[in-house]
Amino acid sequence: MQPTYNDSFRHKGLRKQLVDGLRQKGITNQKVLDAINHVPRHFFLDSALELTAYEDRAFPIGEGQTISHPHTVAYQTELLQPAHFDKVLEIGTGSAYQSTILAQMGCRVFTIERQKQLYTRVQAHYPFKKEYPLIKFFFGDGFLGLPNYAPFDHVLVTAAAPFVPQQLLSQLKTGGHLVIPVGDGSSQQMKRYTKQADGTAKEELFEACMFVPMLQGKAS
Ligand code: SAH
Repeated sequence: MQPTYNDSFRHKGLRKQLVDGLRQKGITNQKVLDAINHVPRHFFLDSALELTAYEDRAFPIGEGQTISHPHTVAYQTELLQPAHFDKVLEIGTGSAYQSTILAQMGCRVFTIERQKQLYTRVQAHYPFKKEYPLIKFFFGDGFLGLPNYAPFDHVLVTAAAPFVPQQLLSQLKTGGHLVIPVGDGSSQQMKRYTKQADGTAKEELFEACMFVPMLQGKAS
């Protein structure tokens, strides 16, 4: 996979159209829309997808994985409600596009990928090392979270979880959100858990969605 690292007026125009489309689909958080307008999504995809990168579609990123639809990225980020300087744990680095959207919003991002090749590629070729030095990449099993770096203000899972991992809830600060698509097979339900002061979590249910599966263990 070799992206084109040139952000032209054409790309910027396509990005603006994408943002207009996301607004029409119900995304209202202006900080999320601004981040999507700012970050060149085609930098995270093969150069063959340079222009289609701004369609609201998922695309292959290798190892059988996909970059999420822009609407999904926007929707999950809106549900997460991160504030500037928040410490956010992301499960499923993939292309690192979602990580970059969070970093553009001022978050300190800790992101875990279980596929060695995807992790290695991002480590070696992440295009915004200078712009977003606060993104930290980890190779590991997202079911376990990052106990050594906890607690987190928020946790975002970008793969379909068969159940809600207790480890992730336990690594959340009081008032923090865990946004996670839960279910298996072809469809999941987006859920948001808010950590309460007594350690329990309040559950809210959102749209049906479709993600690649969250798998146990590391794959080298
Ligand atoms: N957030 C990504 C897209 C996610 S695709 C982006 O912006 O491009 C889901 C990713 O989750 C895949 O890369 C997959 O390998 C990874 N994944 C699946 N199970 C995982 C686990 N247990 N721990 C960490 N990553 C996992």
